[in-house]
Amino acid sequence: MDKTDLIAPCGMNCSLCVAYQFMKYDFNKKGFHKRYCPGCIPRNKHCQFMAHHCDLVGKGKIRFCSECQNFPCKYLKALDKRYSTKYNMSMIENLKYISSNGIDAFFTKEEEKWKCEICKSIKCCHNGLCLPCEIDILSGDKKYKRSK
Ligand SMILES: [Zn+2]
Repeated sequence: MDKTDLIAPCGMNCSLCVAYQFMKYDFNKKGFHKRYCPGCIPRNKHCQFMAHHCDLVGKGKIRFCSECQNFPCKYLKALDKRYSTKYNMSMIENLKYISSNGIDAFFTKEEEKWKCEICKSIKCCHNGLCLPCEIDILSGDKKYKRSK
């Protein structure tokens, strides 16, 4: 798989996503019951967030929202606001950065931003944890439904 496929049309870096990381490390083997996802593009969803609102990304007519003349539209702005506030990342900034600097530079920057100091894995944006190091912290979290 091309790593570019891990950037969703909205600008989400799917490799930071909890559903992607749970699949990557197969944490359900450890008693969790979380949905796994290989990434929006790899699972052929085009865009999980935007598809209800927008045929261009919903049907895959454009690869990134930044190719759209309405970029950033109100739907993307709403999503971006939620992620900027809760998860310390901005889809709109990601897409602008990719347009200006290219995808390789983007991944380099992301690795620096999200790298675990201990094991060098990429942290998860949805909980701010390095899952290989800190998965046990999620044991008591209802959202992660770990069985005993
Ligand atoms: Zn780590």
